[in-house]
Amino acid sequence: MQNILVTGGAGYIGSHACKALRDAGYTPVTYDNLSTGWEDAVKFGPFEQGDLTDRDRLDQIFAAYQPSAILHFAALSQVGESMREPGLYWHNNVAGSLTLFQAAVQAGCLNVVFSSTCATYGDQDNVVLDESSPRQPINAYGGSKRAVEEILRDFEAAYGLRHVIFRYFNVAGADPEAEIGEFHQPETHLIPLILDAIEGKRDALTVFGTDYDTPDGTCIRDYVHVMDLVEAHLLGLDWLQADNPSRVFNLGTGCGFSVREVMDRAAAITGREVPFVEGPRRPGDCRKLVSGSSRAATELGWSPDRSTLDRMIGDAWRWHQAGHYEK
Ligand code: UDP
Repeated sequence: MQNILVTGGAGYIGSHACKALRDAGYTPVTYDNLSTGWEDAVKFGPFEQGDLTDRDRLDQIFAAYQPSAILHFAALSQVGESMREPGLYWHNNVAGSLTLFQAAVQAGCLNVVFSSTCATYGDQDNVVLDESSPRQPINAYGGSKRAVEEILRDFEAAYGLRHVIFRYFNVAGADPEAEIGEFHQPETHLIPLILDAIEGKRDALTVFGTDYDTPDGTCIRDYVHVMDLVEAHLLGLDWLQADNPSRVFNLGTGCGFSVREVMDRAAAITGREVPFVEGPRRPGDCRKLVSGSSRAATELGWSPDRSTLDRMIGDAWRWHQAGHYEK
């Protein structure tokens, strides 16, 4: 059985990837510092606690498990925080990834699937966002991810580190079996915040900006079900194992929904009102981020069938009611 090193395997997306890897016959080895992840979410393979910037620990892990590939999820990922504390983002995301790739090269593990983001594109009005769109991030989160993409390009040229880069749009939903799901402390993402507000776990959702140049004045995002997203990672592993060249893929559906539309669907699905207040724009937010590419479909055979708003909210709601993790 092949070992796959999953950095950030205790986090939201990483834990879903571990389940999918286990189901596909791999052994996912989670490497996570638990800064934002949960040991309770590591259920599908071994857990090794450690930091991406700890080179000695990484060397031990590569020697002990001899992974055939890395799925590199571990990162800080909040736009707002990245604007307030950019140094954290450059340290964790960029210096951490650099250390990981150096250890991987030395260990001869030369296949990486990297979680990048549509935030690398920035705010480009009336531009169809495909993989060749210019990367002009407007927040430190997107900037840090763009920098890691550059490291990968240089490491491939110098050391043959082959990679698939996935630029995620907005990931949502949960494992339909509700074994794992999205749980951040503090929570900053739209759908779990809406569900918290519905359940009375917080006073009200604050809508960040109602004066954007969009049909209802709120920001538009392209939401992808986490199960579809991790499916793409399995296809990315196959892509590398079939000796295809390194490649970048957007992971979005091409459909955009405004904050108000998401709130309305959540109200309809749960049968409850969404308490909300209107607030100012959040620094670093783009007006609209919607994928304009079908490359993942045509080249990887990816089809994000679960990524309807109803299914994402419905699965998130089921998980939300089933429980959460404990430190
Ligand atoms: N959003 C909001 N209120 C919140 C959190 C998010 O209005 O409390 C909006 C945010 O401005 C963005 C969308 O919801 O337009 C998605 O934000 P999220 O933080 O979930 O993901 P991001 O797009 O930042 O990766």
